[in-house]
Amino acid sequence: MAEEKPESRKGVGEQLKEQLWDPIAGFGVTFRTMFKKVVTEQYPFEKVPTAPRFHGRHQLNRWPDGLEKCVGCELCAWACPADAIYVEGASNTDGPEGERFSPGERYGRVYQINYARCILCGLCIEACPTRALTMTNEYELADSSRESLIYEKSDLLAPLLPGMEQPPHAMLLGDDEGDYYRGNFKKKEADQ
Ligand code: SF4
Ligand code: SF4
Repeated sequence: MAEEKPESRKGVGEQLKEQLWDPIAGFGVTFRTMFKKVVTEQYPFEKVPTAPRFHGRHQLNRWPDGLEKCVGCELCAWACPADAIYVEGASNTDGPEGERFSPGERYGRVYQINYARCILCGLCIEACPTRALTMTNEYELADSSRESLIYEKSDLLAPLLPGMEQPPHAMLLGDDEGDYYRGNFKKKEADQ
């Protein structure tokens, strides 16, 4: 590295450049920047939309009749590198006393995601065989306690849209889970 010369050994031209021109050049940068478009984002007062495929908070999706897509298989929990997902499956039951939350045999009775651990990598949604689990663009997940960072199934379930019924209820769009998974219910609706 070149050693800086002592002040006494610098030429007049060199001293003039340092004392006069360098500050002007420096302020010139400031002056030019004053006329450039401001790139600072005024978050949280103004929220800018994310990229469409941004990985934000998860969502547990529903079928068009309101039944849950999650079958409690735990593949998402096994795929998670941060051990952030906890799932407990249970059996659906039919009949007058029965309770059905999803088409088919099983549903996710307990579903939790710990956002103190989650790194929003998206491996869980790739592992999900039924597209029950997807990620939204919601990114405001910070909180001040560990408890509030553990999202329960009720926090993650997609809202009921028009035409959906709150489970538990019978399969309204097909005779068995195969109709749901193959999308046969669409054909049935069209036939009606
Ligand atoms: S996004 Fe990644 S870290 Fe978060 S729950 Fe899914 S697999 Fe785990
Ligand atoms: S979200 Fe998907 S992978 Fe996870 S338990 Fe439910 S069905 Fe299985």
